[in-house]
Amino acid sequence: MSRFFVEKENITGKEILITDAADVKHISRVLRHRIGDIMEISDGERFEYDVRIAAFEDDLVRTEILSKRGFTREPFVRVTLYQGIPKQGKMEVIVQKTVEVGIAKIVPVFSDRTVVIDKGGFSKKVERWQRVADEAVKQCRRGVIPKVEEPVKFNEIVGLIGDNDINLFCYEDEKGTTIKDVLRKVRPDVLKAQEEDRPYKVGLIVGPEGGFSQEESEYITGEGAVSVSLGKTILRAETAPISGLAMIMYELEL
Ligand code: SAM
Repeated sequence: MSRFFVEKENITGKEILITDAADVKHISRVLRHRIGDIMEISDGERFEYDVRIAAFEDDLVRTEILSKRGFTREPFVRVTLYQGIPKQGKMEVIVQKTVEVGIAKIVPVFSDRTVVIDKGGFSKKVERWQRVADEAVKQCRRGVIPKVEEPVKFNEIVGLIGDNDINLFCYEDEKGTTIKDVLRKVRPDVLKAQEEDRPYKVGLIVGPEGGFSQEESEYITGEGAVSVSLGKTILRAETAPISGLAMIMYELEL
């Protein structure tokens, strides 16, 4: 079933108006929907709706609400990925796959060993990555569109991770602690957060192809992030975030 996102202002009483020009065109010209067809709509914050198309007007589609419910596919655990920006094209893969697996937010990071540099116009890349997230979230029927933030420098992460309940620093040289060790320990905290009806927030910090420098490792763990291994093998920059997120979802969400 087709899924669209609307601003809350477009939801009134018993009807929802789809006014985004690209969506209106997609509904009528690409999907060739007709009056009477059923679609799903999300308000992008809390609720999703089954709606029936009532009318096609000049620049909008008028729909009538058939049912309303809280999101059924949004994870309880809110994971933010702080991703060392990899070389060409890999970020799109990371965005698409982590959105499918349940990421809440993606923060691209310039670290010591990122080879990508911002020669200006980097926001075009971020816009493209956001479009990838927008499309991925429709396909996997999630209610909230994960945000791809503007890139930050590695040492700026510290100012962002303080709001998380735990921060996992994925370090390929970590020999002592696995992500499983840490996640097993925090399960009671997750249950407590659920009882208090607040999200449990996890930071997942992953490096670029060249990994992290010793200085970065010392700096970020000195600021409270927990260094964890994702297993015995060295994962690619685009494999590590997907695997790490899947492990978090397995242990804390399922
Ligand atoms: N410097 C690494 C090497 O020795 O070849 C390559 C870095 S790896 C391609 C990119 C990132 O994935 C790492 O910085 C780390 O964040 C994560 N990663 C890859 N394998 C990992 C593992 N086994 N445990 C923890 N993190 C891993």
